[in-house]
Amino acid sequence: MFEDSTERFTPQETALLAPFVTNTDRPIFCLRNLPEVVKGALFSRYSRSTRSLRRLLLDEFISAPESGFNALVGRAGADPAAQLVAAREAEAFYDRVLIGYGDDSVAELGGAHIACEGVSNIAAKLLEDSRLGLSPLEKSTRYVRFDLPGPDGYAYLREPALMASPYAARFTTAMDNLFSTYGALLAPVQTWLQAQFPRDPETSQRAHASAIRAKSFDLLRGLLPMATRTNVGLFGNGRAFEYLLIKLAAAPFAEARQLGQAMQAELDQVIPAFVKRARSERGREYATYLATTRERVAARAARLDLPRSSQDDVAVRLVDYDPRAEIKAVAAMLYPHLDAPLTTVQEAVAAMPEAERMAIIEAAMSERKTRFHRPGRAFEEPYYTFDILADIGAYRDLQRHRVLTQERQSFTTEHGFVVPPELEAIGVARTYSAALEQAAEVFAAMRAEFPHEAQYAVPFAFRVRWRVKLNLREAYHLIELRSARQGHPAYRKIARAMFHEISAVHPALARGMRFVDQHDYGLERLAAEQRLDQKRQRGDQTA
Ligand SMILES: Cc1cc2nc3c(=O)[nH]c(=O)nc-3n(C[C@H](O)[C@H](O)[C@H](O)COP(=O)(O)OP(=O)(O)OC[C@H]3O[C@@H](n4cnc5c(N)ncnc54)[C@H](O)[C@@H]3O)c2cc1C
Repeated sequence: MFEDSTERFTPQETALLAPFVTNTDRPIFCLRNLPEVVKGALFSRYSRSTRSLRRLLLDEFISAPESGFNALVGRAGADPAAQLVAAREAEAFYDRVLIGYGDDSVAELGGAHIACEGVSNIAAKLLEDSRLGLSPLEKSTRYVRFDLPGPDGYAYLREPALMASPYAARFTTAMDNLFSTYGALLAPVQTWLQAQFPRDPETSQRAHASAIRAKSFDLLRGLLPMATRTNVGLFGNGRAFEYLLIKLAAAPFAEARQLGQAMQAELDQVIPAFVKRARSERGREYATYLATTRERVAARAARLDLPRSSQDDVAVRLVDYDPRAEIKAVAAMLYPHLDAPLTTVQEAVAAMPEAERMAIIEAAMSERKTRFHRPGRAFEEPYYTFDILADIGAYRDLQRHRVLTQERQSFTTEHGFVVPPELEAIGVARTYSAALEQAAEVFAAMRAEFPHEAQYAVPFAFRVRWRVKLNLREAYHLIELRSARQGHPAYRKIARAMFHEISAVHPALARGMRFVDQHDYGLERLAAEQRLDQKRQRGDQTA
């Protein structure tokens, strides 16, 4: 279909191009084996030229000595140190090309994978506050045991300011106790789970053991404090990294500021052209703006004397929604199929009989067969604002949704903690609670002097309050994904509560959310592990 318009290359040109493109004779192709800066600069030129991408690559990069192409990509390119030198030498060339493009989105044209190891959960949450443009993956509290000590003891951050304070000994004693309690409770919890959920003959030993292990880690994760060290990998584009680096520079945590500097040094080695603004005067000013604004608003907030917690605190409260959501959503469904202004369509929908509106919603939803079938963009019209008070463990999971608006309050022990009912049944709830209470005492002692750093002492079992504003389309995604059987019971409960709240105000719009799992399961991971076994038996490579 497209081939006729494809540019032809001589055999010599083809040989030069071949290592860097997935084909030289078809119009659809990928770039490969090229440094990020070359790909970014090449794409920037693309938007300002009549020439094809491969022609640009040949003429303006491969054959242009000032691009440093051979040093960057050729034999020297195999040596990272030589590549870095080459990138610096050709910096003026790339700056010219990239600046010539003149738009912020040029920084989205280069990407990097970066690993942040041994960071605390406070820092991990700051990294994961990022939205589109960054894709994080974090070591799981469900699949990985967290009490294995390293050379310095249990793996948690000993924040230098706290360690230099009179609270150091109390802090480390409480943190050590959390980790040792986690370790000590694993065996009784797993023994109880095995007795409670014996393996049936159809289930493999592997699947059953994995499900028990995951459940035991899920049950005990509440003991892990925010100081717990974890690993976070991020893949993202330069622009998103630039903003993240600026936010880290503005963060009230010394760990986060140091992390930002360390990340900058590493990103400078792979995508320097795309993240350099973070360390420029402009970047510093931006960070100052963020930090100063936060402090000024915080000072204003401190003047308000509000009760921190109230009796009627509920886990999931729908605070706000659009009463005209149904009319707006139905109008948006019809809009692409009409030739009339949006207000006219909305007026027509408002005047429609109820049954006709329902029929349109039905037409938009009835073909939906799995949760992967996304509802259309019309479902982005209705917005919902929730105020959630739930354990930090659940917050950590739900925070990962990047399309919605989320903001949390500080981590505190003020709102109490949650004890999984299984721990009561096993008879270890007192030991579990005692470790949490000890951490709460240390937090309370440190809080006035170290309002930020004290948060490292707060274990995941304590409740945190956060607000979530999301549209209905994202609500479909979040609620159906997070109510799925294999999810953690803490966030499954929240997802189901959100579903009930939305259904109560917009029943017709919520009716299409057909894949909300309302059941409770003992061993949430078991069915997923059984499916994994079946895939392995079939030799499915994706298993
Ligand atoms: C059972 C379970 C186990 C999990 N285990 C782990 C784990 O071990 N480690 C871990 O780090 N995380 C884990 N997660 C979290 C998971 O990796 C996601 O970060 C989280 O579910 C958010 O989902 P999302 O990206 O689909 O949602 P959102 O961020 O809300 O995005 C909604 C949708 O928008 C689209 N979208 C969003 N961002 C992008 C983008 N940058 N590019 C393209 N499309 C985008 C996608 O279609 C996405 O599904 C787990 C989640 C579940 C449900």
